[in-house]
Amino acid sequence: MTMTTPAIITVAITGAIPRKKDTPAVPVVPREQIESTHEAYEAGASVAHIHVRNPDESPSSDPELFAQVGEGVAKHCPGMIIQFSTGGRGRQQSERGRMLELKPDMASLATGSVNFPAQIYENPPQLVEDLARSMLQNNVKPEIEVFDVAMLYNAKTLADRGLLKRPCQVQFVMGIPNALPARRKLLEFLVGELKEIMPDATWSAAGIARHQLEVNRWCLELGGHVRTGLEDNIKFDKDRLAKSNAELVARLAGICGEYGRHAASCAEARSLLGLPAA
Ligand code: ZN
Repeated sequence: MTMTTPAIITVAITGAIPRKKDTPAVPVVPREQIESTHEAYEAGASVAHIHVRNPDESPSSDPELFAQVGEGVAKHCPGMIIQFSTGGRGRQQSERGRMLELKPDMASLATGSVNFPAQIYENPPQLVEDLARSMLQNNVKPEIEVFDVAMLYNAKTLADRGLLKRPCQVQFVMGIPNALPARRKLLEFLVGELKEIMPDATWSAAGIARHQLEVNRWCLELGGHVRTGLEDNIKFDKDRLAKSNAELVARLAGICGEYGRHAASCAEARSLLGLPAA
């Protein structure tokens, strides 16, 4: 018998970029989101990364919508880790943390600003601090989203100041035009730096669009955790769109074994991230 180590699979089900017209598989209303998350959970995902949408499909900050999706996922996917996005696209800065009062297990926290393809993803220092404080108060574990290199060091500074609880979970986001490119050497550098400055941290990386699977493989090989889902990439391969979030999760769960890994159960994921048992 060979022992394998767990890899936490996060499924980013929806995202903030409107694209339902071309991609009917992207779930946008709570009922579809809960169903899509449930299928992904059955396929091996242990963390659900969630954005919600207004009726016109634009990104929403409405805590009522977050509550509906969170409750549905908690009911149908026992033990699954619920992570709400505090991301900025299409949302007022002052509204980005409103759903933290619902006390999800986790929420995303970008620790700096960066250019996206056609806009600035603005995360001024005061907003980052306010979101970090609100997460502390509500006992929500941040997932530090690193879109550019300085954000890694900013996270350490926040942790040193007591604004982030250790151990931190860090996600490197690679392949967004104008931000970090998807380069293996860069990921190796970032992981090396993380191990030096925050040795107790866990990490994963998300590859955007055609980089998704390649970045998944690097993470599995380098000992990190993994993220997939229609938020980051709507295609299964270069020839066709993905049928569902679950299809992407199932493929990823299937390749874990090639790297001596297995898809973490929800209990394993909770223990690795220092979250209470469900
Ligand atoms: Zn997101």
